[in-house]
Amino acid sequence: MSRNGRRPTVGAEPNAGAGYAMPREVRVERGSAIAGERRVRADACVIGTGAGGAPVAKELAEGGMKVVMLEDGEYFTTDDFTARPREMTSRLYHSAGQVTTIGNAPIVLPLGRAVGGSTVINSGTSFRTPPPVLAMWGERFGLEQLTPEALDPFFRRVERIQNVVQVPEELAGQNALVVKRGADRLGWHGDFIYRNARGCVGSGVCNWGCPTSGKQHTGLTYVPLAWNAGATTFTGARARRIVVEGGRARRVEASTRGGGRLVVDCDRVIVAGGTIQTPLLLRRNGLGTASGHLGRNLSIHPATGVRALLDEDVNMASGVIQSYYIDEFAGEGIMFEGAAGPPDYIAMSFPFSGEQHRELMLRYRNLSQFGLMVSDASRGSVRERAGGFLIRYDLGRRELAAFRRGLELLCELYFAAGAKVVFPAVEGLGELRDGDLGPLRRHDIRPRDLTLLAFHPLGTARAAAHPEQGVVDENLAVRGVEGVYVADGSAVPSSLGVNPQITIMALATRLAFQLLAAPPPLDEPEPESIAEPRVPRPHALAG
Ligand SMILES: Cc1cc2nc3c(=O)[nH]c(=O)nc-3n(C[C@H](O)[C@H](O)[C@H](O)COP(=O)(O)OP(=O)(O)OC[C@H]3O[C@@H](n4cnc5c(N)ncnc54)[C@H](O)[C@@H]3O)c2cc1C
Ligand code: SF4
Repeated sequence: MSRNGRRPTVGAEPNAGAGYAMPREVRVERGSAIAGERRVRADACVIGTGAGGAPVAKELAEGGMKVVMLEDGEYFTTDDFTARPREMTSRLYHSAGQVTTIGNAPIVLPLGRAVGGSTVINSGTSFRTPPPVLAMWGERFGLEQLTPEALDPFFRRVERIQNVVQVPEELAGQNALVVKRGADRLGWHGDFIYRNARGCVGSGVCNWGCPTSGKQHTGLTYVPLAWNAGATTFTGARARRIVVEGGRARRVEASTRGGGRLVVDCDRVIVAGGTIQTPLLLRRNGLGTASGHLGRNLSIHPATGVRALLDEDVNMASGVIQSYYIDEFAGEGIMFEGAAGPPDYIAMSFPFSGEQHRELMLRYRNLSQFGLMVSDASRGSVRERAGGFLIRYDLGRRELAAFRRGLELLCELYFAAGAKVVFPAVEGLGELRDGDLGPLRRHDIRPRDLTLLAFHPLGTARAAAHPEQGVVDENLAVRGVEGVYVADGSAVPSSLGVNPQITIMALATRLAFQLLAAPPPLDEPEPESIAEPRVPRPHALAG
């Protein structure tokens, strides 16, 4: 397993082998089968099984606690994943993928809902928290304990369990290689992405459930390991009440898909429902409200993309969906990361119709697309409305300028790579031809002209050492109550400039070790290499 005592991360070896932790027993109880009242006792109840919840559940269970996980979504096995985006979106995504922010630009904000949470549908990109971001948290939020050195054992543990390795060039797909060629010609820095995968065959449908078990989502890694240590997952079980008596959490009450009620008696509750749902659950229960920050400070990393038509065979249906990144402009808050797509997804998301749509889809094999993500200083909010939620987010001037610049750069890159026609996702602009960026430069882009998505909501129950600054303290404990903790994206106090799952998993793992009063796991193998994107501490990260 190890080369020179280190965990291999490059080449074929760490990418080969089976992609899942084999559970001795699938310890799932389906809420759809619970119509009456059901009562269970646990040492800890973990709400949510995504990037935050699953690691806490596994570590606590292995540490000897009786753990119950509550998950609103269902449990899917790899055999359920059909590789058909339209079918899988309605099964794995919250609101069939239609969650959208309101504000000066509508932004589609996909969220996962299943055992594994959003990790079931994410692209697997795995970056540690950039050290300059941790330094900023120390200065701005008093989180001085979160240094790269202190977090290193937790990063290593997460990366080992998730098998974070670099995408080998042969799996990266021609889409990424086209972009790499453009970046190389322009002298821009980039690299193949590190991701949590084992046994990946490059089928390019990571966002709709990996059909080979290659992608190591937490429903394949942490959750089965938690079952092996005795934990149980209730699916179709939505936590609604956290009952506090004598200043301490005493039980969680959930409604079940079968119309019943599940009560978990426990005196530790770890809330990990994700950045959008965690603040709503806390507020409904009157928890974490004192600082006035609950539900606020929402950062999202808004993103858009550019498509291009080339003469060569790109075939985006083959290769890892997101396998290359360019960090040359990370100092300006702009990160380029690829996201290819199979034909039916591209057909659904192309902003064209009629004959033009048909012509372009007939040339699908010559199409390429790449994404750009902006590290945002703007902040939004989330609140409950009519039993659901309302996400408010306005794109600020700084983000708009970053999108303008990023779109120009990405179009320039595609022309350098040999594209004849490029399509920036800007309403009313149309296509650019023959290397001419003039129409884009002259176009007056308003926020609502951009086609925007966001995949990284963070910050709505942010951590801070100072009570007036944060909902949870530096150890992720909700202020003003004993025994309630937050272990998901909502505790992450700012946008990161990179994808957040490893940050969330490492913070969650650290929380579990603290709850167990265990020392950090200093014996974790050092990875042979890790991604080290050039994310400095620009003003765009200081929000
Ligand atoms: C399409 C897509 C691609 C992405 N790609 C990447 C990537 O490549 N790399 C990366 O680092 N990040 C990526 N992300 C983001 C990353 O997946 C998330 O940041 C991360 O999973 C968030 O972890 P979490 O624990 O906060 O929430 P989630 O992983 O979303 O888990 C929350 C879970 O809690 C459940 N839940 C919510 N409320 C309740 C309740 N009341 N009771 C019971 N259960 C509840 C939900 O159903 C859900 O399953 C991507 C996200 C998406 C949507
Ligand atoms: S590219 Fe295909 S095989 Fe590889 S992780 Fe994604 S969905 Fe799984």
